[in-house]
Amino acid sequence: MAAGKRTQTGGPRVVIIGAGIGGLMTGISLKKQLGFSDFSIYEKGNDLGGTWHTDIRS
Ligand SMILES: Cc1cc2nc3c(=O)[nH]c(=O)nc-3n(C[C@H](O)[C@H](O)[C@H](O)COP(=O)(O)OP(=O)(O)OC[C@H]3O[C@@H](n4cnc5c(N)ncnc54)[C@H](O)[C@@H]3O)c2cc1C
Repeated sequence: MAAGKRTQTGGPRVVIIGAGIGGLMTGISLKKQLGFSDFSIYEKGNDLGGTWHTDIRS
């Protein structure tokens, strides 16, 4: 996860790389624990879940 530039509203811009369990839980925690929803999650695969998703299908 990288945090740096500020958005137009003045808050930090957060980018989460990877929608595995780590990335998804980071997004959920940002929202639920901090009330922060100004973030993006980028996933290079076709679906969410990372290793767990890949493993279930194989
Ligand atoms: C065979 C196997 C069995 C396991 N069994 C268990 C178990 O029983 N219990 C348990 O607790 N843990 C288990 N684990 C471990 C568990 O799967 C990992 O700890 C967990 O998936 C890590 O989550 P993560 O989100 O950090 O990484 P990942 O699940 O690997 O997710 C990373 C995501 O980031 C994406 N990504 C990577 N690079 C980029 C990029 N440059 N740009 C965009 N997206 C990117 C990937 O496509 C992926 O979707 C197992 C692992 C394996 C391999």
